[in-house]
Amino acid sequence: PLVVGVLALQGDVREHLRAIGGDGVTTLPVRRPGELAAVDALVIPGGESTTMSNLAIAFDLLDPLRERIAAGMPTYGSCAGMIMLADTVLDGRPDQRSFGGIDMVVRRNAFGRQVDSFESTVEFADIGGEPFHAVFIRAPWVESVGPQVRVLARVAGGPADGRIVAVRQGNLLATAFHPELTGDLRVHRHFVQMARAARAARTH
Ligand code: GLN
Repeated sequence: PLVVGVLALQGDVREHLRAIGGDGVTTLPVRRPGELAAVDALVIPGGESTTMSNLAIAFDLLDPLRERIAAGMPTYGSCAGMIMLADTVLDGRPDQRSFGGIDMVVRRNAFGRQVDSFESTVEFADIGGEPFHAVFIRAPWVESVGPQVRVLARVAGGPADGRIVAVRQGNLLATAFHPELTGDLRVHRHFVQMARAARAARTH
């Protein structure tokens, strides 16, 4: 089976483990370098990116994670996880680090106080079917992307109209919102397909 880890330093780990598990997928919470070495793909959950950064350093995971991501490990980051996958973070703490991998600039807590948390329907390329019901919780947005990055979803309507909230670059996928909270598993299934395709490409 495909082994998909969920980075379990902090955040809504259990919801992602539940959403990603299924036929032919073994899930594994990842807290140590040895566990990271055992996974084919990784989900970085929502939570608090400053805390995740501190804990990644304390658990000796920052460099191993950077290396695996740079080497092409399929990785999906949601909300704080999106921040951790960004090459550049705006409005972060000065000592905050990211794993990087996606050539994008994200702004933390970008939607501001009045719309701290909100729900909205977005058109999501690649997952098929109906628009996606997106839950945003003190979410970042993507301020700009490099040429290798494909934009998958934008906010439609309201003060943040047009802001980028889902992207893909190679084997890396990131959403500013939380599909693990809605029961709509299309994003997780899409990520598992990305991970299977990456494994197939490696072994043939
Ligand atoms: N505001 C959080 C951060 O900056 C992200 C919030 C979330 O993951 N729901 O890390």
